Amino acid sequence: MTEVQSANRIYYDEPATLEFTAEVTAIRELARVDGQQVWQIALDRTAFYPTSGGQPYDTGVLVATARSGASLEVPITNVEEDEAGEVWHTTCKPLQEGTVVSGRIDATRRRDHMQQHSGQHLLSAILDRDFAARTVSFHLGDDVSTIDLEGPAPTDAQLKAVADEANRIIAAALPFGVRDVTSEEAATMKEQGLLRKLPPRSGNIRIVEIPGIDTNACGGTHVATTAEIGPLLLRRTEKVRGNLRLSFICGNRALAVANADFHRLQEAASLLTTATPEIITSIERLRAENRSLQKERVNLLEELASLEAAKLASVAHGSVIYSLPSDRDAAYAKLLASKVVRETTAPVAYIVAYEEARANAVLAAKSGVLDCGTTLRTALNTLGARGGGSAEMAQGAVPLEQAESLLNALRPLLP
Ligand SMILES: [Zn+2]
Repeated sequence: MTEVQSANRIYYDEPATLEFTAEVTAIRELARVDGQQVWQIALDRTAFYPTSGGQPYDTGVLVATARSGASLEVPITNVEEDEAGEVWHTTCKPLQEGTVVSGRIDATRRRDHMQQHSGQHLLSAILDRDFAARTVSFHLGDDVSTIDLEGPAPTDAQLKAVADEANRIIAAALPFGVRDVTSEEAATMKEQGLLRKLPPRSGNIRIVEIPGIDTNACGGTHVATTAEIGPLLLRRTEKVRGNLRLSFICGNRALAVANADFHRLQEAASLLTTATPEIITSIERLRAENRSLQKERVNLLEELASLEAAKLASVAHGSVIYSLPSDRDAAYAKLLASKVVRETTAPVAYIVAYEEARANAVLAAKSGVLDCGTTLRTALNTLGARGGGSAEMAQGAVPLEQAESLLNALRPLLP
């Protein structure tokens, strides 16, 4: 069974073949998505790669041509392999069993997968060989691919050396060799330390080799020589469950990302009215300026609050009750309330700040005049709202339309 199906998978022996003819051998309805039927088609032979071994599926089309010459294009949106080893092509357009079709793989997507996947072989091999950092898993993602490494985490300098070595081997255009061995031969290779892992399957095992660099049991699609991997870029590292996760990109994707990064840097430089090499200096200067402006703002607000507190107390004849203009926030309400009771003769300050749809109330009192926490909580509770604080200062918030009700509830409680 496995033998026959292996022979029908064109991508094993001819990963560069992206057009083929085949016959529909089975069709089944998978599901209805938003009222639309989704079908899965099996073919007697296919070049469509199903998601497996960490490499994502191919997309493309099947084209069926009627005797009249009319042709029907069937887009393939997913390709999966079932437990029995059958490859299923997902589509919204059904095809009858026995229909002869020509298949066409999306070449850009496939080439991208081959570049990332082949790059991963190379990267894992160098990390293991040079720094004893062993790949425990990898993921080929839509944006970046990652490998999880166990063992001592490579330093930044070591990672740079890994990237340099990878790009050196890429430029050397070493061939990717593919051959089948029996499971006994594979077991011997593992004993000799040539293979890290044996795949969990019986029958012949496919060995992928970069001569002198890597030997791997792998069913994915690979480029013909390392040169086709194209530029390899290492990206970020992060700790994940005790391992180091290393992100990387290869080939056309690396070029596209490097170009996008360049344009983003240019945009940042233009916003900072500087040249790209000066961006960091420019950001550091802005941050320093920002810190000193913040400090200045805090000092000015302190001064403003003192002046405003004195002004409010001079006209209040007792407790200061005041609603702030909309450009002052709850933090300023707190500052102003504390200034009133500390710096003026007013015994109590009730200050409200309006932010979006909320009224933020602050109640402050001179020591011994009033228990602010209990008083404000009592008033808030009559409106089903919460809040509280210490005897000296309390805070709470109500919806804007309840601001007046809160003041009415509070007024009888104030001295
Ligand atoms: Zn592979």
